Amino acid sequence: MKNPQNLSSLGEFGLIDRIAANVGSAAGVVTGIGDDAAVTALTPGMQLLTSTDMLLEGVHFRLDWHDPYRLGRKSLAVSISDIAAMGAVPRWALLSLAIPADCPLELLDAFTRGFLAIAAEHGVALIGGDTCASQGGLVVSVTIMAEQQPDLIVRRSGACPGDDIWVTATLGDAALALSILERGFDSAQPPNSDMQTTCSLSGVEGSDFLISRLLDPTPRTLAGRMLAESGLVSAMIDISDGLLADFGHIAELSGVGGTLHLDALPTSGAFRAATRGLPAFPHQLALAGGEDYELCFTALPGHREKIAQIMKTCGIEATPVGIVTTLSGVTVLQSDGTPYNLQTPGFNHFI
Ligand code: ADP
Ligand code: MG
Repeated sequence: MKNPQNLSSLGEFGLIDRIAANVGSAAGVVTGIGDDAAVTALTPGMQLLTSTDMLLEGVHFRLDWHDPYRLGRKSLAVSISDIAAMGAVPRWALLSLAIPADCPLELLDAFTRGFLAIAAEHGVALIGGDTCASQGGLVVSVTIMAEQQPDLIVRRSGACPGDDIWVTATLGDAALALSILERGFDSAQPPNSDMQTTCSLSGVEGSDFLISRLLDPTPRTLAGRMLAESGLVSAMIDISDGLLADFGHIAELSGVGGTLHLDALPTSGAFRAATRGLPAFPHQLALAGGEDYELCFTALPGHREKIAQIMKTCGIEATPVGIVTTLSGVTVLQSDGTPYNLQTPGFNHFI
């Protein structure tokens, strides 16, 4: 009987061939995987947008929590989300992998399946990458290329005082899921020792939904693109580090500030059920939890109805959560009008 294949019998080029075997031809790809560089053709009149992201085992994901199929999906999803936030059309991706020598081939196959599945869902073609051995954990780096007409690209810098601040779908689901995973499903303890109320998430209806929001986020490609092409939005960003931090980037680059209303923050039914009885915790997660991969954008209050119509077409909700102010700084107000002070400002790698 032949030895079962593994990474060392396959080698670097065998693995690249294995990935390439699942990649078909695609629009705009003149030369794909296999040459020294890929050759692509932009649609005439479009500008090229490029973004790159790294995912490190132990920092961004744990293989005991993240199944490889959904890890493959998320590796590309986070990059597609950046493109959505610019209002652009994702086209091509490069996938670079540093792989521990003992990594099972089945894991890499499932990863590739997930990556190529979400690529197909969003019209992205895999056109190349790099493959090497890792002395540490698995490292995934994805570069995405996209295109859009120059006048339709939405930046972080366009917000104006008086604009509404909007967010798509719901906030805090992924951060709640992470805290569930960190504590284990059977724990009856809340994540912070300073919280008196306890809650058990084991058996909470909707915990699968929450976990999938963390492990398999949905980039808002169509919403971002339609908002951009409508010309209604003045600034946009995707929420990866929490609304407070990411709206903070819009505010800084636009030279404005903002007021967010705590009671307006949209949360899912599963989120509310799981955090019932924990007064401070839900607000922290929704404001600063991170990994929502929703869009935050700004627009004149007069555009509310048109924006609601666009969202309906996209099949997602969007909610106005605050107002852009002339005064710099971002303030969060409680329902009684008093400021809310957050303990943690959002995720930051070096703090
Ligand atoms: P070079 O030595 O010139 O850098 P490589 O041997 O690294 O070329 O890559 C050969 C081809 O395979 C290139 O087209 C490259 O883009 C592609 N490639 C390498 N790794 C990957 C990967 N993980 N996914 C997709 N394509 C890849
Ligand atoms: Mg190479």
